[in-house]
Amino acid sequence: MTVDLAVRLRDVVGPAGVVDDPAGMSGYLTDWRHAYSGTAAAVVRPGSTAEVAAVVALCRGSGVAVVPQGGNTGLCGGAVPDSSGRQVVLSLTRMRRIRDLDAANQTVTVEAGAVLRSVQEAAAAAGQLFPLSLGAEGSCTVGGNLATNAGGTGVLRYGTMRDLTLGLEVVLPDGRVWNGLRGLRKDNTGYDLKQLFIGAEGTLGVITAAVLKLYPAVRSRTTAWVALPDPRSAVDLLGVLRAHAGDRLTGFELMSRQSVDFVLRHVPGARDPIAGVHPWYALVELSDTLDDAGLDAVVESGLAEAFERGAAVDAVVAAGAAQAAALWALREGVSEAQNREGPSLKHDVTVPVSRIPEFLERTRRALADAVPGIRVVTYGHVGDGNLHHNLSKPVGGDDDAFRARAPELSRVVYDVTHALDGSISAEHGLGQSKRDVVVDYKDALDLDLMRGIKQLFDAPGLMNPGKVLPD
Ligand code: FAD
Repeated sequence: MTVDLAVRLRDVVGPAGVVDDPAGMSGYLTDWRHAYSGTAAAVVRPGSTAEVAAVVALCRGSGVAVVPQGGNTGLCGGAVPDSSGRQVVLSLTRMRRIRDLDAANQTVTVEAGAVLRSVQEAAAAAGQLFPLSLGAEGSCTVGGNLATNAGGTGVLRYGTMRDLTLGLEVVLPDGRVWNGLRGLRKDNTGYDLKQLFIGAEGTLGVITAAVLKLYPAVRSRTTAWVALPDPRSAVDLLGVLRAHAGDRLTGFELMSRQSVDFVLRHVPGARDPIAGVHPWYALVELSDTLDDAGLDAVVESGLAEAFERGAAVDAVVAAGAAQAAALWALREGVSEAQNREGPSLKHDVTVPVSRIPEFLERTRRALADAVPGIRVVTYGHVGDGNLHHNLSKPVGGDDDAFRARAPELSRVVYDVTHALDGSISAEHGLGQSKRDVVVDYKDALDLDLMRGIKQLFDAPGLMNPGKVLPD
């Protein structure tokens, strides 16, 4: 970065808004998992949309690439700069205001750097619900949630970030501000431009604010942990509970015994809710806007039918909030617990719900053939077909030897996903990690259209280069 650009950036955001010493920058240059690291000319932290626009325009004028970053909790290296040392990381974390909450319109207008939990809290304080919920909600930001079209545990009932968004404000790669901050549920005046920025992982512009949908607050909740004989039973149980609970079924997570074993081994205080060893478990949540909605009776009638059909072998229904939290802690602890077992190879795939059993069986066989003893850690938001299908080396295996097999093993998982009409990225995005491999699993015309859109918005290729699209 030239001295002139550095001076002009400081003029825009103030001296405290530019970080360029190695110690100050280090937290912005490596991702949450320490899987990706880069270097940067500077980290710039604007405090307003006008400042973001000025920073982007200055960088564009100097031919300097910009890497938008929120909470840096992304899992595919999308917010990490490359190793040239010439890129600028644009952190939105100073822009965290709740600009407006319109209870009658059931919308909240927030700045992109607002931490997800703060938006949930603002909604709750107004007696409403903002339903996006995921393990990183104490650190991830709305801008990152939008840029990755985040999913999480409530998708079954409320949809992904795309479904929860009515309007956006975006700084385009040339520094112009696109004001699409409308809180309308109906607007058929041509192309729905906001959808282009959602899920674009910062490659088409910097999201600075959003109008998000709110829902009536949830006043009662029931959580159950169900032991299953096999994955087909999970699909069966999902259907039964949907029939009994309708829209009140708001969470349906699957966990393999291997995932539960890792959590029991590594998460302090974790306890097995059901005696005996079962191959699969479902974590089920029902919720309602009424105080006394009789949810326990609904889940119990659903479970009774599932037992009769042989789709469930045992179950516990949480006796209160503490027990429900303990059940969710089992699910939320998997990722961290698996990290303690050495290198883990992560896959975040989706297939039609009906094909989940076939996916699991085909990958199980192929992976065991490739690496006998490989530990397959499967868990995820199965209600919407999304599986985290992660691999750990065999017990006593060598870390480096396992890492060396990573491309081949991922290909096994992706080939089966593709054969079953699935997607190799359900919710985390492509970032750097799947940027090159997606070429083999996406239609050539899809990629062509994506390149055309990128060209339209960012012909010089200075907005988060090296992410999403193969070079
Ligand atoms: P970052 O990591 O900072 O950035 C992610 C991408 O968005 C990058 O490409 C970046 O350039 C871009 N970006 C960030 N801010 C902006 C902006 N304002 N404008 C334009 N582009 C921007 N994800 C799920 O979907 N579901 C889950 O259940 C889930 N669980 C998780 C659990 C844990 C423990 C962790 C660590 C992560 C999990 N994630 C999950 C992944 C991650 O939390 C989400 O992708 C989240 O939405 C990222 O938000 P962030 O603010 O941290 O974004």
